[in-house]
Amino acid sequence: MKQKIKILPDQVVNKIAAGEVIERPSSVVKELVENSLDANANKIEIHVRGGGKTEIIVIDDGMGISKDEVFLSVKRHATSKLTNENLVKISTLGFRGEALSSISSVSDFTLSTNNSSCSEGYEITFSAGRFQHERPINHIKGTTIKVKNLFFNMPARLKFLKSDNYELLLIKRLVQKFSLSFLNTEFNIFIEGKKVYSTDPIKERDRGKILYYRSSKIFGRDFKDNSVEINIDKQNFKLTGLLGIPTFNFSNSNNIFFFVNNRIVSDKSITSILKVAYRDFLAYDRFPQLILFVNCSPSEVDVNVHPMKHEVRFRNIQQLKSLIISSIREELRKINHLASSSNTNKALKKFTYEDKIQDALILREKKEDIKFDEKILEEEKIEKSKNLYPLGFAKTQLHDTYIISENEKGIIIIDQHAAHERIVYEKLKKEFYSKNVKRQILLIPLIIELDNLVLKNVEETIKNAEKYGVKVETFGSKSLIVREVPMILANSDIKKLVMDLIDGLIETNDIDSIEEKINKICSSMACHGSIRAGRIMEIDEMNDLLRKMEKTAFSGQCNHGRPTYVELELNDIEKLFGRK
Ligand code: ADP
Ligand code: MG
Repeated sequence: MKQKIKILPDQVVNKIAAGEVIERPSSVVKELVENSLDANANKIEIHVRGGGKTEIIVIDDGMGISKDEVFLSVKRHATSKLTNENLVKISTLGFRGEALSSISSVSDFTLSTNNSSCSEGYEITFSAGRFQHERPINHIKGTTIKVKNLFFNMPARLKFLKSDNYELLLIKRLVQKFSLSFLNTEFNIFIEGKKVYSTDPIKERDRGKILYYRSSKIFGRDFKDNSVEINIDKQNFKLTGLLGIPTFNFSNSNNIFFFVNNRIVSDKSITSILKVAYRDFLAYDRFPQLILFVNCSPSEVDVNVHPMKHEVRFRNIQQLKSLIISSIREELRKINHLASSSNTNKALKKFTYEDKIQDALILREKKEDIKFDEKILEEEKIEKSKNLYPLGFAKTQLHDTYIISENEKGIIIIDQHAAHERIVYEKLKKEFYSKNVKRQILLIPLIIELDNLVLKNVEETIKNAEKYGVKVETFGSKSLIVREVPMILANSDIKKLVMDLIDGLIETNDIDSIEEKINKICSSMACHGSIRAGRIMEIDEMNDLLRKMEKTAFSGQCNHGRPTYVELELNDIEKLFGRK
């Protein structure tokens, strides 16, 4: 029987809201740190235990909350940040008045605060949204919020959380993002009482320098050496930050840091704009590393579009889009020029298109000279074997990317990278399933430095990489040492390969089935170990590739589902020319 309609009690309403606002421990940290920043804190400490499920404490030296407003602050839709009660010009990080009410309804929650310079503060406690007690306390100016036993009254949510180490990694990455955006604020993270990240207070006025300093602390010197500054002020928007050069690329978008008016934004549509900006410089499945700040009048953006405030809407997205794309391309073109002008003239010449063609012709002539006699003998052979080789025989290579081959029925255009990738992939998979990966010991083992939390997240699983022919061990608390790699990949960029494996492992740690993982890893390995588009190949090498393709299962498409070759039958060609 239908029950009577009634308004839900506050506790239930808050719990429902919490479901939207507080997804996991890092969302608690996000809301609390945003509050501290809105309170103009100079210093923020974040203490985490048990992956944030046991305890999260955020301490700030901001403006504090007055005693008569303490209770109001944990009420739903209570905020001091919407002055004119319209949502048009929001310049604070918070504005929904939902965080404290949500957090306090799904945890054991204590708020201690003081808004004056004397040491008298006030404290209130809630458990699962129920008031527990209040009392005057000693507290210096600022606010301390303690969140214990998160989701203890929402077992379903608790189950959905990942390992402590993974949750910690998300928290650390988040605070690092804040520290890139709020350069005058000092941030400290403590995990189980141990300091794991701190931004030293620097008396530096130059924001560019602080950004360099903080970013190299987070990403290592590599990024610093492989990025350029962007600084553009045009058409209502200011774009600043650091752009990673295209060769410094990753398998996912984790290394894209995008801020709008200092707010962390992780919006898929923004990622795709950035990908377009890098498109001419980067393979389609790779992502750049960059830190980009967009600053504009608050009236240009609507920040009220996502409960966790991850996304924003721009009033004039088309204008911003073309500004971002053209500015990034402009900056990247400058570095291209820089890189090439530092090379010798000789090297420069080698890279020009005409010279490449010349080189290819010379190579082919040489080869043809030597093989002249053998060639005559082989003609006959080819005639006989026409039917055996459905992909025909390579005639030439175009744009250093496509192989043109002729078979009985017509011509075939082969994408050399896609084709080779498929072959390597199938070979790796076959080797793996027959437990027969041929390995090569690296003469000089490769040491890769990692964030120690990243390392903790993967150290167990990465051991299994040995099955795939990659022998890696932990090396101290912050590095991995790679000793062996699959023979087939010995000439590829091994650091990139291992970093991609790690990125994949962090995300998929225990959900993916083993088989999916194998396929994923093989596919990423194959991509690294394959003949790149843009490489000159000799006729023999091309024919070799065609023969291998014929022997490989599913060789008609690459690992990303694109075709590896297209066939044009004589029939169709004749139609094109109106002969039929
Ligand atoms: P919002 O941030 O959207 O206003 P919250 O629920 O996060 O909503 O916080 C409610 C109010 O409590 C804030 O508007 C602010 O006045 C006060 N507040 C919360 N945290 C702090 C803090 N760390 N320092 C000072 N005031 C705070
Ligand atoms: Mg808030």
